[in-house]
Amino acid sequence: MRAVDLIVKKRDGLELDPDEIAFFVQGFTRGDIPDYQVAAWAMAILLRGMTAAETYALTLALADSGERLDLTGVVPVAVDKHSTGGVGDKTTLVVEPIVAACGIPVGKMSGRGLGFSGGTLDKMESIPGFRVDLTTQQFLDQLRNVGLVLSGQTAELAPADGKLYALRDVTGTVPSIPLIASSVMSKKIAAGAQAIVLDVKVGVGAFMPTVAEATKLARCMVEIGRLSGRRVVALLSDMNQPLGRAVGNALEVREALETLAGGGPPDFREHCLHVAAHMLLLAGRVPTLRQARGLAEQALDGGAARDKFRALVEAQGGDSRVLDDPARLPQAPVVESVRAGKTGYLAKADARVIGMTAVALGAGRARKGDPIDPSVGIVLHAKVGDRLSAGAPLCSVHAPDVARARAAVEQVTPAFKLSSRAVPPLPLFYRTIR
Ligand code: URA
Repeated sequence: MRAVDLIVKKRDGLELDPDEIAFFVQGFTRGDIPDYQVAAWAMAILLRGMTAAETYALTLALADSGERLDLTGVVPVAVDKHSTGGVGDKTTLVVEPIVAACGIPVGKMSGRGLGFSGGTLDKMESIPGFRVDLTTQQFLDQLRNVGLVLSGQTAELAPADGKLYALRDVTGTVPSIPLIASSVMSKKIAAGAQAIVLDVKVGVGAFMPTVAEATKLARCMVEIGRLSGRRVVALLSDMNQPLGRAVGNALEVREALETLAGGGPPDFREHCLHVAAHMLLLAGRVPTLRQARGLAEQALDGGAARDKFRALVEAQGGDSRVLDDPARLPQAPVVESVRAGKTGYLAKADARVIGMTAVALGAGRARKGDPIDPSVGIVLHAKVGDRLSAGAPLCSVHAPDVARARAAVEQVTPAFKLSSRAVPPLPLFYRTIR
């Protein structure tokens, strides 16, 4: 078999068989197939698509490029969640403690932010001392003893996906449904998940701009789950405006802590309870979604989820005093407001523009490995549908200096649109795919 023949076959719209896909993935994992051929292959997939059988074969080949974690005997049921990435998406920080507090241990391997979308590891590292580089053994021990782990992905887990993703990122081949679906599902399968809740984001701040495209992606991932014997449910959620109010690492941790303490923005709280309820249901903790929701609310409102988060922070070397005193989190020295130019209803708070502005402030990275500033970001003071008077604050920019604050104000201002007519709030969720 030759890599070039498989590129040509895909370029011409023909179906690759599982052996050909495995040959290609094994070849580039070992370094035998060079990056330029992998990039050409990824572009052919983006343009020609893949059948369900090809996508499944690619998922398994990526999952089998490294070790597979076996969680049987460690947890009663390995339940996981995955978000396709968004702006202000700090859901994991609240959902996983809720689920763990309801008696279902969760060990999650997360990623870093890339482009305008944030990453859980960067957020957690804004807690002083918090370590995300656990070995597989430490991960398993903590899952057993604490019932909650938030770590980075070990190098041995689906290494081909890491390599392929890095190439896709610089060759315009990220927004392909079979490539995204196989990338996400390969990591979940390799990490040993038996039940997976997928939070598929829809809107201007997501990979999938429309409900129709997000539905296709969700169906593709649910089908991979079915073929591999995993229980999967996909929730399509809005990413036209940021989730909650805070965008930026320490700012988002602060918001998550407020939510764990019973406060927080109503949309974010509701989002977390809904995702947590689906995880509890899929894990078989209770027989109905309504009961699962009740359990989740009890864990959040009774403080058990907050206690779990404290145990997690302590187990991974973080300063748990931030829970009682969030002022211990990094804080930006300059805060400037963007104000409404007229009275009206907020019609748009563009998640992509807001996310890009946060990245420009230093909250995210343009390239893998770039350093980030945990303190900076943006806090929204209004959500779509809110009525505002002229001069009311739309958002605050948290910046490292005055010059960068001014640049951010200029960049973020066009994200907001006011309408003289009433505007309905955006939905939180669009649909559920099982
Ligand atoms: N998230 C992933 O893990 N992979 C993709 O390809 C896109 C989003």
